[in-house]
Parts: sequence; structure tokens; C-alpha cells
Amino acid sequence: MPSERLLLALDYGGTKLTAAAATPDTAGREWRVRRSIPSPPGADARYDQFTMLALADEVLAGDRPAAVGVSFGGPVNAAASLVLLSHHVRGWENTPLRAQLQSRFGAPCFMDNDANAAALGEWRFGAGQVEARPVASLLYVTVSTGVGGGWILDGRIHGGAEGMAGEIGHTMVDPAGPLCICGRRGCVESIASGPNLARRARERLMAEPEAGRVLRELVSGNLEAVTAERVARAAEAGDELAEAVLTEAARALGHGLGTAITLMNPQRVILGGGVTKAGERWWRAVRSAARANVLPGMTVDIVPAALGDDAPLWGAVALAMTGN
Ligand SMILES: [Zn+2]
Repeated sequence: MPSERLLLALDYGGTKLTAAAATPDTAGREWRVRRSIPSPPGADARYDQFTMLALADEVLAGDRPAAVGVSFGGPVNAAASLVLLSHHVRGWENTPLRAQLQSRFGAPCFMDNDANAAALGEWRFGAGQVEARPVASLLYVTVSTGVGGGWILDGRIHGGAEGMAGEIGHTMVDPAGPLCICGRRGCVESIASGPNLARRARERLMAEPEAGRVLRELVSGNLEAVTAERVARAAEAGDELAEAVLTEAARALGHGLGTAITLMNPQRVILGGGVTKAGERWWRAVRSAARANVLPGMTVDIVPAALGDDAPLWGAVALAMTGN
């Protein structure tokens, strides 16, 4: 017999696999059990599948779930039945993961990509709540290794025709900007993601040997050790080169957010991911660039995420609860 109240949440992330069980009455606050394991470099889909099922069995401890929710680190098709590919792990192409999990656990399974799942998680349990009620519409954006996003419109994930809506990281903010991983130029991600922010700081340090004293000291002169987090720390300590690079990155993101806000007029924008820990200077620049790029009178409410790294996993719970 399935347990009426037990929900299984699975997060196939780029660097780790997580399985957790929750019940509806404590969802968003407390896991019943949560197990996570790093996905080693070089792991393939078969390894991930095997490891995740072992984690899930451990979490369920012999119980059968009422429903399964899945957050996947890569595109899934619009019907959310197939994994199209993983951004991080080879061998996932066109995997019918939903059907496989439904037959393995004997329960309905609901799946989406990690950005959409995180958006749903924040909407249902996190920063998408205002006075204990969910906002009508929100854009969630994660700013870390990449820049991704998801829309919640009228309480549902808006995936678009191909399930790819919300890809704000690949909207263009500078036609002459740096080459992006997607093959085009000047995308938000090419300027604002953590690795690109660090790369731009490194380039400036090489071009201006007299500048960036604090940042150089922070990495003991080893430019390879420059990270977004260290650029933020140097900016905090008054390093002008670091301040300039950090502000450029924040402005590129804010500019992209302004475009999205102008198009869709969401009630709230939520930002998560490691780069959002870059401090008040970064947040100020994001908000002011967004405000400068929307029509007068439009709501620009940009707030930090509340659920941290567990946002996609709580989103998987919300998927399992609603079949969204
Ligand atoms: Zn791009």
C-alpha cells in the first residue's frame, strides 16, 4: 500500500544527487529524511540512475510513496516525460525518466527542469509567499555557474512551447559582448555568471598591471585563483577594479531582468544561486539596472531566494503534491 502522505523528491543536480521524503503538513519546512551524494566527475547516466534509486530506497525505508517529484539538471520535453539531455552528465539523451520512475515506485511521477522546479519551490514554500499567500506571478533566476530561470504564472510553471521559457541567461544585453557558451554574443550569462565574472576580473588584472591591488593580494598573485566570491570580497574592501567588474556583472543581470519584467510584469522576481551572496553593492546595481530598463510604474520587486540549495528539491515536492 502506498503511504497517503509520503512524497518522494529527487534532484538530479550537476554535482550531486539528492533524494528526500516529505509529508504535506511539514513540506517547505522539514524533511522526513534527506540523503545527498556527490556525483563524481565522469559519472554517466547509468551511474546516476543506479545511485539515485539506491538513495530513494534508503529514504523510503520500505514505504511506498503517494507520488514522486523530480527536478532534473537539464532540459526535459514539454510534456515533462523525457529527459532531453543533461548539462553535466553524458548518456541522458531522450531518457523516459518519468515512465521509469512511475513503474519503479508504482506511483505517479511529475518532473521538470531544475530552474522551473526551483521557481515552483520558492513560489509554494519560499520567497514567493507574501503574508502566507503565494504571489500571482513570479520569475525565479539562479545566478551561479550559469544563469537560468523559470516562470510561475497563475500558480503554474510556464514552460512555453518547448519547455524552455525563462532562459533569461541567454537574452542579449550587449551585441558586442563576450562570446557565450550558447554560441552567441553578449548574453546575460556571458557577463553575469560566477565563472564569467571571475574570467572578466582576470582579464582586467592582466590588462591593467597596476590595478586591483586588494584582489591580487587575496589570491597571492595567482590569477587562476580569482573567483566570483573573491572579486566580491575585494570589492567590499574597496578594490576599484573588483568593484567595476562586479557592478558590470550585476548591471548585465539587472538589464536582462528589466526586459523580462517589461514583457511579463511579474509581481516578484526571486534571485538564488551563489553569486547572489556577492553583497549589497551587487544587489543595488541589479535593482537599479532593472529599474532603469522598465516602463515607469511597473513593479520591480527583486528579492533573495529563501530555500537555498534545496529550492529545486522543494519544487519536486510541490510537483508531487500538485501534479503541476
Ligand atoms: Zn548565451
